[in-house]
Amino acid sequence: MRTLQELVRPNIFALKPYSCARNEFTGEASVFLDANENPLNGPYNRYPDPLQLELKAKIAKMKGVKVEQIMLGNGSDEPIDLIVRIFCEPKEDNIVAIAPSYGMYEVCADVNNVEYRKVLLNEDYSLDADKLLAATDKNTKVIFLCSPNNPTGNLLNRGEMLKVVNGFDGIVVVDEAYIDFASEQSWLAELDKHENLIVLQTFSKAWGLAAVRCGMAFASEEIMGYFNKVKYPYNINLLTQQFVNEQIEMEQRKQDWVKMLLAQRDRLAKEFAAMPLIKKVYPTDANFILVKVDDANAVYKYLMEKGVIVRNRNSVSLCGGCLRITVGTAEENTELLDRLKEI
Ligand SMILES: *Cc1c(COP(=O)(O)O)cnc(C)c1O
Repeated sequence: MRTLQELVRPNIFALKPYSCARNEFTGEASVFLDANENPLNGPYNRYPDPLQLELKAKIAKMKGVKVEQIMLGNGSDEPIDLIVRIFCEPKEDNIVAIAPSYGMYEVCADVNNVEYRKVLLNEDYSLDADKLLAATDKNTKVIFLCSPNNPTGNLLNRGEMLKVVNGFDGIVVVDEAYIDFASEQSWLAELDKHENLIVLQTFSKAWGLAAVRCGMAFASEEIMGYFNKVKYPYNINLLTQQFVNEQIEMEQRKQDWVKMLLAQRDRLAKEFAAMPLIKKVYPTDANFILVKVDDANAVYKYLMEKGVIVRNRNSVSLCGGCLRITVGTAEENTELLDRLKEI
């Protein structure tokens, strides 16, 4: 691997971060006259912990990582954007990513004027590590992998992913937004073995907290130093820190939801497979199923008119004729199936 000094943009490497009042003082005190806060209306009058250490301690325990290996963001979208800004010099460096995949990687690259190189997956949505690596050059700083992948739903082959992690001398991001629904282990267990690995997870899917906007990035302490340097000092507000903390206490509830959703996923997959309308049901390790029909636009439009909204992926490369259908409650899925049977 190239050194972090070689990978991080020179201005970020040299950056002297904003030093907030709460960072400069550590220890016990009872009178805080340092941050121009209103002394009334506690606890909301005070700036929150910029490093969210209490919440991170809980996440560290749950995930089996060190507090120093965690960054929390306003959804996973914040660390995705930070990765581009930390490592990629606009108009000079580039990003290599699988396609089709999550749309935010390309949007963040475009916003930052960084070249985004898409490498098509195989026809069956499997990963070809050699093909991906062949698209990299000396200016490739970051590779984005997503497993289980969105919108295809499949896990990428672990051996092929390992080839990418070992064969690339820059940063490899593994987006695991759907890992709670997957039949395989997270890459978090590999974090200490690979200095170039960044794993993304989120509270938006299995935890049922998309509205709260809390995502997680995991990486080496050294990489985290750059995240902490570049992020807004108070990027996670106190309400979110407290609320997510409480939600983690109910981890069993999340497990129960996942169990229910996986049973519903199996039910949908079986029913879809028996429908003449549906030509192909793709294997999934996520909380959604990609299906192929003859006329995706027509089916999409029909369902929409009946008040059932699915994601039309017809125009996405390798996804012609495809609809991405999220697993809902038993009742919602029944409604979907009834409507499909009418076509
Ligand atoms: C939904 C999703 C996310 C989550 O984004 P948040 O900003 O955390 O809500 C991240 N990556 C992928 C691939 C997703 O599908």
